[in-house]
Amino acid sequence: MLDFSYTDDQASIAAALDGFVASALLSGYMARDRDGAFPEDAWRQMAGMGLFGLRIPREYDGQELDCVTAGIAIEAVARGDFNLCYGILNSAFVGDLMARNASEPLCREWLPRLAAGDARISVCLTEPHCGSDAASIRTRAERDGDDFILNGEKASVTLVMAADAGIVFARTDPDAGSRGVSAFLVPFDTPGVTRHPYADMGSKCILRGSLFLDNVRVPAANLVGTLNGAFGSAMQTFEYTRALIGLMCVGAAMQTLEETIAYTRERTAFGQPVSRNQGVSFPVAEAWSRLEMARWHCLRTLWLRDQNRPHNAEAAVCKGMVPEICVDVIRDCLVLHGHYGYTQDLPIEQRLRDVCGQLIADGTPQIQKIIIARHLYGRENV
Ligand SMILES: Cc1cc2nc3c(=O)[nH]c(=O)nc-3n(C[C@H](O)[C@H](O)[C@H](O)COP(=O)(O)OP(=O)(O)OC[C@H]3O[C@@H](n4cnc5c(N)ncnc54)[C@H](O)[C@@H]3O)c2cc1C
Repeated sequence: MLDFSYTDDQASIAAALDGFVASALLSGYMARDRDGAFPEDAWRQMAGMGLFGLRIPREYDGQELDCVTAGIAIEAVARGDFNLCYGILNSAFVGDLMARNASEPLCREWLPRLAAGDARISVCLTEPHCGSDAASIRTRAERDGDDFILNGEKASVTLVMAADAGIVFARTDPDAGSRGVSAFLVPFDTPGVTRHPYADMGSKCILRGSLFLDNVRVPAANLVGTLNGAFGSAMQTFEYTRALIGLMCVGAAMQTLEETIAYTRERTAFGQPVSRNQGVSFPVAEAWSRLEMARWHCLRTLWLRDQNRPHNAEAAVCKGMVPEICVDVIRDCLVLHGHYGYTQDLPIEQRLRDVCGQLIADGTPQIQKIIIARHLYGRENV
């Protein structure tokens, strides 16, 4: 049986979010970019709506909803403010990774606070010398009695300047490649931790930056998962967040497209609405077609995950192609707004800057094509 309809719960969450996004988020999107500070008030409002607990188990005060519902939520929020989606994305990644891999006491300590919006936990994998080739990380964690001592540098960490802790991926076996990587929950107030912010093109209020670890001592109880087993569990979690990222980009692009339809219906040139030219209406029709296809592909990928079915290649399509489609659509919409599109009076240039970040984060289009090619040819042939 094929059924593409939302459940009653999904439909009511989507309706509640549409109202919240239109009334509370959209109007502040550009101001939050100009301000550049962490959006504390909007974050609190989202936490109050339960948006950070969507994928956190009920025993840790989350809602434990399905992946499709998380996708519906992130798409809705992206229509109002692309950057606030990082709250949903981050808590979904960390919540999923910790609930599946961390000890009960560690989950009990952190997940209720993450769900309530009282704690933020960054994901710290990338290093200055490696991102795509993440198995080459050099940050070291060495056993010392009941503790581990961490040394190294992490790059490009979303939310790092606003977070309370990070899940830090570190090498625990120098000779074992991807099978020698472990993950640790590192509170950022631990002695030896310092952070440095980046000056970014977009998503400025998300405070991406570097993390430095200088003889940072964490208890062995802060291991997230098994010793040397963190790489695989991280990759499994990326399979899920890649579909969320796709929907986040679709939300921003679809909102821009709807604004463009309204504008080109009203704007006149040569004595008629510009929409009466196929040079205007055809790119709009193509953009809508591409976004609809992208949207349903991402939702299906999340549905596959909900069914515990394989979705590795599907997730790579979500991350590899969908942000590119959305960047194309937003750029076309900018041009269809004429010179106004180029100003900072409209949110289009900001959406373009913000969505561009997701061309790179969580693996570039090239890396996603490698994953898809391995799926098609077999790993040994690619
Ligand atoms: C907005 C944003 C948020 C991010 N948030 C986080 C975060 O929270 N935590 C975190 O750990 N990281 C984060 N990252 C980092 C991100 O995951 C990496 O930037 C990404 O994986 C690419 O790694 P790199 O930048 O080192 O590029 P490189 O790996 O150096 O690649 C450079 C270029 O070469 C291409 N390339 C590399 N290898 C191949 C190959 N085999 N075949 C073809 N092309 C190839 C890449 O596609 C890319 O275009 C974020 C990045 C951005 C932009």
